[in-house]
Amino acid sequence: MTTRTRFAPSPTGFMHVGGVRTALFAWLIAQKDNGTFILRIEDTDKVREVAGSVEHIIESLKWLGIGWQEGVDIDGPFGPYLQSKRLEIYHEWARKLIASGRAYADPYTKEQLEAFRGEAAANKKAFLYRDYRPESADNQPSDWDGKSTLRFKSDPKAYKWHDAVMGDLSTGPEVIDDFVLIKSDGFPTYNFCHIIDDLLMGVTHVLRSQEFISSTPNFLNLYEALEIERPILATLPYVMAIDGKKKLGKRDGAKDILAYRNEGFLPEAMINFLATLGWNDGTEQEIFSTQELVEKFTLDRVQRSPARFDEKRLMWLNGQWIRRITLDDLYDRCQAFWPISAASADESTKKQVLGLVQDRIKTLSDLPVLTDYFFGEPSVDWSMIENNKQLASLAKNDVRSLLEAAKTALDIDNYTSDNLQTILNGLLEITGQKPGILFSLIRLAVSWAPFSPALNDTLSVLGRDKTISRITRTLDYIK
Ligand code: GLU
Repeated sequence: MTTRTRFAPSPTGFMHVGGVRTALFAWLIAQKDNGTFILRIEDTDKVREVAGSVEHIIESLKWLGIGWQEGVDIDGPFGPYLQSKRLEIYHEWARKLIASGRAYADPYTKEQLEAFRGEAAANKKAFLYRDYRPESADNQPSDWDGKSTLRFKSDPKAYKWHDAVMGDLSTGPEVIDDFVLIKSDGFPTYNFCHIIDDLLMGVTHVLRSQEFISSTPNFLNLYEALEIERPILATLPYVMAIDGKKKLGKRDGAKDILAYRNEGFLPEAMINFLATLGWNDGTEQEIFSTQELVEKFTLDRVQRSPARFDEKRLMWLNGQWIRRITLDDLYDRCQAFWPISAASADESTKKQVLGLVQDRIKTLSDLPVLTDYFFGEPSVDWSMIENNKQLASLAKNDVRSLLEAAKTALDIDNYTSDNLQTILNGLLEITGQKPGILFSLIRLAVSWAPFSPALNDTLSVLGRDKTISRITRTLDYIK
């Protein structure tokens, strides 16, 4: 049987790391086996729906390079892939369950149900709907009109099953209940329709988050009632906040996945980060290309305990990936991130600058701070001298004479990095200063930036005119 996996998000807002990780793992399984990956949209809860979510999901997955062969926007043999367009199908399967005596119309009002719940609570008993199952549930055939709530007539029993991540699991009959199949608005519940869809779409592996694990015994009961074979089930543990104490929430950095794109994270880094959020290949390896992940990923190496979301690690991985891609590739990806001052700079200058800072960039949005002074005139910011440990103790006169000496020494034609290094070394000897002082001072005088690449490289790209005019401007400032 060919592997078919699916990602089945509900269109209820943006996608965050947990959701995307589920998609990635399911996609990796399909890729590895040359199988099919399906994007199904589960829009049966009209109340929770957020406009624009589907487009957002598609854009997010595309950014990451997670592609599907069948899905909401690509018709396939088992479509449509939008659940709200499949209501007929669910009703047809509901009728099969009614016919086999495994579904019945729920006759109770909300108030009656509340009263049952209250009664169970008063008796300190867990509420089970099946304890109140109406007599009509045994009448054949049920008189369900398609407009009232339809419930599953469960067959309570103990289960043992294997989860591809969590291992062997078991539960007793007390967790099995008569859950809702079709709501009174005619829409099916997730519990029902995902099972029908997975069946009809030929899904072989169901990967989903831990929040569904407690419902799994009920799903098993339904598979039996439908006399269908169950797929491989794989439960992915929650992604926790960095403190490991609570599920990752918006306040702990669970933000829209596309926000990372806009902040200058590379998709390679995000994929690498998500894949290693609760998975490793059994070695110390931390950097994985997508191709390597496809080859190495297996469900049995997904950790059973929750992973912690560490944004610093993502940042680190991003820096690693920025160093790994070619300068030309990096240049292409930086288009939207240059400072305004670079607007009229030509490609070769920008590439030169980019080459200098490539191994310092953590996210592409660092680009303006790191490169602005190469293009525009920085303004003198004396507080940077005062706040610099090594420079703060220099008297203004010393600053002046050091900069005068630098200006003279650097007023030369040959601005190659090598030659500048020779000149700068000579300057150290002439002035008797340490590099930490002399080079920091020159660096600030020409850039007024918090960091810059090696001084000789920086000056080489700036060129003689800018170097001399900026040192002169700083000298004028201290006059
Ligand atoms: N629609 C469910 C969700 O968004 C999908 C769960 C599943 O993958 O079966 O969480």
